Amino acid sequence: MSEVDHNWDDGVTRQQGAEKSVIAEEAYEGCVRQDWTHEEIKSLYELSFNELILRAQLVHRQHFNPDQIQMSRLLSIKTGGCPEDCAYCPQSAHYKTDVSADKLLAADTILDEAQRAKESGASRFCMGAAWRSPKDRDIDELVEVIESVKRLGMETCMTLGMLSPEQAERLAKAGLDYYNHNIDTSPEFYREVITTRSLQERLTTLECVRAAGMKVCCGGIVGMGESRADRVGMILILANLPEHPESVPINMLVQVAGTPLYGTKKLDVLEFVRTIAVTRIAMPRSVVRLSAGREQMSDEAQALCFFAGASSIFIGDKLLTTNNPALTDDTDLLNRLGIEPLALPPLSANGSDHPPGAR
Ligand code: SF4
Repeated sequence: MSEVDHNWDDGVTRQQGAEKSVIAEEAYEGCVRQDWTHEEIKSLYELSFNELILRAQLVHRQHFNPDQIQMSRLLSIKTGGCPEDCAYCPQSAHYKTDVSADKLLAADTILDEAQRAKESGASRFCMGAAWRSPKDRDIDELVEVIESVKRLGMETCMTLGMLSPEQAERLAKAGLDYYNHNIDTSPEFYREVITTRSLQERLTTLECVRAAGMKVCCGGIVGMGESRADRVGMILILANLPEHPESVPINMLVQVAGTPLYGTKKLDVLEFVRTIAVTRIAMPRSVVRLSAGREQMSDEAQALCFFAGASSIFIGDKLLTTNNPALTDDTDLLNRLGIEPLALPPLSANGSDHPPGAR
């Protein structure tokens, strides 16, 4: 058994007889930095579970109220028939799944859903369309949708695929708060998952979103058969973006029959909790969202994720096409944990442009 010395004064953990840990002091101080190294992120993963989760909680408390959670509702506004080949996705036209291809929902239908989401406690309404990229005529319709949802007093987020700079500008002008575009995984593992869209194309869309002045929602998926080195690589890309995404969704793969990743060996849930904790430390002011995969997690595992620094969830029975815990189950769990939903309208605690719930 390895013995571990703790130097409580400087917070650095050292293995006896081993070299001083490469973990930067800043990692423990909740500093925002964009110069992380692979070795530093890897060293965080390699801390003992107790040490890592405690450190993540301490960083979390520097920037967030640990007993508040931001709740979003996700609606698929255009389902299925997607030309991309993301190996986890039942909406890809490349795979035979139970998901059929539909047209873009009517603006009234979307607005009714947004109203229902608000009544169930969501502060943000996220809309997803299964496109490689939207057409300009789609943007015409979506501008109207964004303006209507904003009038309800909700934050808005969309995920529509790749955007041109002009499309990003139009969405921003309509008032879209967040744009979601995930990097999914590490550069090394990326081609195992997606071949029809490059990681660089994703990063270019993120640049367009930033240039247009919208907030970025960007994260990834774990449990796709990637290695820990790939999880490190994914967090490294996110944490070294010129600005950290305001929202970082961390998804556990939901395996859907008919997709290539169906049957992948399941990831240990404690490794998932570690991923939440490392994300929290690497991007101290970002809202880390415990996203897909909650339905397969125990209450205890979710509680650990919240302790590790996750402070946002999707509510409602469905995500885009896969199941999510019932609202009653979420309410019950949050009550038992003494965690409150972030109130509407979403306000930053200090009047700055911090993400909702940030200190
Ligand atoms: S994840 Fe998005 S881009 Fe990829 S196949 Fe599914 S809907 Fe299309």
